[in-house]
Amino acid sequence: MKILLVEPAFPIPPKSKNHKNFLPIGLLKLHDYYKSKGLKTKLVRGNKSKSEIGTRFKPDQIMITSLFTYWSQYVWDSVKFYRDNYPTALITIGGIYASLMGDQPDFKRKLRKYNARVFFGIHKGAEKYANNHILDYSMLSNPSPIDYQIIHTTRGCPRNCEFCGTWKIEPKFESKRSIRDEIIKRKIVFYDNNLLKSQYIEDILNELITLKQEKKILWCESQSGFDGRVLEEKSYLGKMLKKAGFLYPRIAWDWGYVQFKEIKEQIDILCEGGYNFKDIYIFMLYNWDIPFDEMERKRIKCWEWGVQIADCRYRPLDQISDKYNPRKEQTNEDYHIHTEAGWTDALVKQFRKNVRRQNICVRHSFIFYSKDFERKRTKDEIMSALKHKKTKEAKIKYLKQINADYWIPDVITYPEQV
Ligand code: SF4
Repeated sequence: MKILLVEPAFPIPPKSKNHKNFLPIGLLKLHDYYKSKGLKTKLVRGNKSKSEIGTRFKPDQIMITSLFTYWSQYVWDSVKFYRDNYPTALITIGGIYASLMGDQPDFKRKLRKYNARVFFGIHKGAEKYANNHILDYSMLSNPSPIDYQIIHTTRGCPRNCEFCGTWKIEPKFESKRSIRDEIIKRKIVFYDNNLLKSQYIEDILNELITLKQEKKILWCESQSGFDGRVLEEKSYLGKMLKKAGFLYPRIAWDWGYVQFKEIKEQIDILCEGGYNFKDIYIFMLYNWDIPFDEMERKRIKCWEWGVQIADCRYRPLDQISDKYNPRKEQTNEDYHIHTEAGWTDALVKQFRKNVRRQNICVRHSFIFYSKDFERKRTKDEIMSALKHKKTKEAKIKYLKQINADYWIPDVITYPEQV
């Protein structure tokens, strides 16, 4: 029995292929699991011809993964490609998009068309195998070697946020007691949906702290944000995260401006733990139920606090395409614009732009943003004159006098103002 595992040709730039956010960890688990059962397995990325796969490797089964629903077309392109190349193989589609939409009429129609089947949720056998074995990352060493490893300490999430698909794909929340024996690399990336909710979070962090002290690990990162409500309940976790080597902690501010006191409390817990304000990110969902003006007020609060924003444009869970283009005027035909809450294409793009410019200011401790500065087009005499202006007001007055291109993050900025 031969199994081919396929990551579709997702639009991930080659330099980001092995980026810690895009590693096809599910396929890797399946690969090693089936191999351990004595089956012949191959993992490929993209649509590979028979000669690239090897003419002697004729798969009996092809397992194709999927990711965001709006990348659905890449999945079907792969299904078609491999069905054409291997007409008799059993084709199975799994992963996020398949789990969320595999029971929808259009999905089912395509399954019939390509004589394929769907797999929902997590593959228990592969998951169990991965919990007890070290995965062979060399399988994915192309285009660049992987010097980090992915760990799950939990599956699922006990919260049921309406915009999130996690609890639909992984309905059962499960926590591991220990991960120490799984650590084989010095850089650890956690793919947990809600790491802090683990019932063993203190044990896990203590293990990491020891490994860090023993110099067996260098740093950790959590792909998802930290649950701020857990931080509030257990403020000692702020220090533990820092000691365990977690970089760039992120917390979510999904709801209205009124939450700002809680969010500040959560930021303070991280700062008391040893983090700098500018290393902390606040996840913000925009183009969603919170209108533009309120999002801008939230953005300005982050500016006052000196923290960065990780902005995330809302797409409905059943959105199967997304042609967003930041350089073009677009409509709801191209991508989801949340008009229900007053969002327009211009407001969506403006908010993204404001966040980007503000983050640059936070990172570099600038009081204003300038495109000319960013592109290093500003004359030396202007830079020197600005340096000599001591206060923010004096600098801005000078910029106005010379009619410079600049933007200050302190105010709500609408599209027509730029
Ligand atoms: S807390 Fe995060 S992972 Fe959990 S349901 Fe909400 S958005 Fe999803």
